[in-house]
Amino acid sequence: MNYTVHDNWDRQHLWHPYTSTLDPLPTYVAESADGAVIKLADGTQLIDGMSSWWCVIHGYNNPRLNAAAKAQIDKMSHVMFGGLTHRPAIELGKMLLEAAPPSMNNIFYADSGSVAVEVAMKMAVQAAISASGDHKKSNFATIRSGYHGDTWNAMSVCDPVTGMHGAFGPALPVRYFVPQPASRFDGPWNEEDILPVEELFKEKSHEIAAFILEPIVQGAGGMWFYNPEYLRRLRQLCDKYGVLLIFDEIATGFWRTGKRFAWEWAGVEPDIMCIGKGLTAGYLTSSAVLTTKKVADTISHGEAGVLMHGPTFMANPLACAIAVESLKMLNEQDMASITAHIEEKLKTNLEPARSLPNVADVRVLGTIGVIEVDRPVDVGEFQKRCVTRGVWIRPFGKNVYIMPSYIFSDEQIDKLTTEMIELVKELPQYGH
Ligand code: PMP
Repeated sequence: MNYTVHDNWDRQHLWHPYTSTLDPLPTYVAESADGAVIKLADGTQLIDGMSSWWCVIHGYNNPRLNAAAKAQIDKMSHVMFGGLTHRPAIELGKMLLEAAPPSMNNIFYADSGSVAVEVAMKMAVQAAISASGDHKKSNFATIRSGYHGDTWNAMSVCDPVTGMHGAFGPALPVRYFVPQPASRFDGPWNEEDILPVEELFKEKSHEIAAFILEPIVQGAGGMWFYNPEYLRRLRQLCDKYGVLLIFDEIATGFWRTGKRFAWEWAGVEPDIMCIGKGLTAGYLTSSAVLTTKKVADTISHGEAGVLMHGPTFMANPLACAIAVESLKMLNEQDMASITAHIEEKLKTNLEPARSLPNVADVRVLGTIGVIEVDRPVDVGEFQKRCVTRGVWIRPFGKNVYIMPSYIFSDEQIDKLTTEMIELVKELPQYGH
């Protein structure tokens, strides 16, 4: 069947992310993808600035990852993890524990980022109730402007304004929110940022199982990079008030921020950590939740005696085999230098945008580059213009942002950032 660049059947029958059936945003038929480039059905080539929402870290159609997938598929693409185990899961687990914060000891493989967040929250509740003997100690606290996924509990800790609370209202559990840390990653630390956490814990820590947040980089909730001191102070308060600390590293993991994981910027470890996205380099959906022996054993001493979760596709061997190969590739390269080079290029190239009249801020950390504009962007119109300029960028709210995969050449980064700035310059013309 021949496809043109838009498909009418798709428009009438397929739901795309966060899309209306009455007035769906345009979609473009992707035919293939290779390295930094997505090819559309009409032959248009787009340099991909999104890494397919953070996950394609080694570029598309990578020969080593393809070979790992093919080798595993000829052995077994899946077996249940209840009562069975397999080499890819064990090998991946060993590699993850070598890369993770030293206190991590137990791993739960889940199916997606959102499910990892659900599992992390269930772990925290089971551990907190088991440790305290108090069923009331089962709520959560978080910072505003966070994003943790689209399942029920994940939604409940997303930002209450930019997140999905509006649409679901009283159906969502009510969590405790403190302000987003205002101290910038690259600016001075302001002690006032942490005060609301202590005030909350003083009053409510007996109800709070865990504090969950994205370390250093708040992704889909606002593309904000905050001061590492916040995490150090938060860790102290969690210890003082007996609250578990969950780091959602689903977007920040696997060198996206210039460190293997973002917790390294602050040097403090969580009790529970979620990873996903880059874990399988964009090949298959998979995620993992890591925790300490203490949390794992506390859960096992609790009422249920087990962690109450067990998805059908847990530890899918195909996904694990690809993840193992991806981690080997990361370990073989000097990722600190590679990501530092991309960071430098993004900083140099995006800085001129700061002086544009419609630009509020320019931020770069690791391989993430953000131009924050002064009002929300019309995504449909923006993407139409992206396609004519040969790049792929999907803004969210006021943030026009890119996170290229690590295989980009300097020329590809230059093309992406040049077109990104041109697209931002065009924004006022169509009344964003
Ligand atoms: N946590 C964070 C920080 C994320 O960025 C995302 C995805 N954007 C998720 C959780 C949810 O992951 P998934 O879409 O795989 O369910």
